[in-house]
Amino acid sequence: MNAEPPQQTYHYRILQRGTLPLSPEGAMDISIEHRCTSVVIWPAGESPLPARAIFTDPCFTTAGKKEAQKQIERIGLTLNAMRLIFVTHRHRDHLPTDFDRDTMHIFQTRIPAEFPDIAIERCPGHALDLHALIFRNVHDKIVWVVGDAILNRAWMLAWGYFWPNKYSRDEIAATWRSVAKIVANADLVIPGHGDEIRITPELIETMLNRFLNAPCAEMVPDIAITLRECLQRRKHPAP
Ligand SMILES: [Zn+2]
Repeated sequence: MNAEPPQQTYHYRILQRGTLPLSPEGAMDISIEHRCTSVVIWPAGESPLPARAIFTDPCFTTAGKKEAQKQIERIGLTLNAMRLIFVTHRHRDHLPTDFDRDTMHIFQTRIPAEFPDIAIERCPGHALDLHALIFRNVHDKIVWVVGDAILNRAWMLAWGYFWPNKYSRDEIAATWRSVAKIVANADLVIPGHGDEIRITPELIETMLNRFLNAPCAEMVPDIAITLRECLQRRKHPAP
């Protein structure tokens, strides 16, 4: 018999809840802080240990760091315990604050060998170097940590790209390809600047209905096909 070893699952906890003062429609609310979402991930069945805990985009604001400290203490660690850092992309609002080159290992494209059940996938568009971290949680759901490939739920549903960055048409089309790949494969998404998003058939249907109005949608007609197929799969899973 050729039995596959059981796949390792992972716990995770949001350390800093990301927020964004800008809306996809162009409004700005200066009472809202610009800060990214940061999570810590560790193997299920193990106590969280510095050498076995991955911190994603640990770019903390002053207020966010206080919250992050509280959250990390709840699992028996401190922020000083950060050793392994995954950076989704090298924009300033995602790069680690208080980075100690001697003790920390930053990775972006290749997962450390001790985590064979975690995958990394390119999701370019918002940034050419954007990568997502993918793992299975203890409820057997596939979780994608995607940085600004998806900014938050509102931006995702609006098919909004981060307009202040003045992207080219090709970059916008690449952004939609990454969004479609994420939505088609994830059960849960940790976006760059918001709360966790649960991918449901209803959500995919809404995105599909709105896609025709997305900027540059005519450049990537295959995205509607991808979303339609994924909707069928989720509504009628194979027995
Ligand atoms: Zn960002």
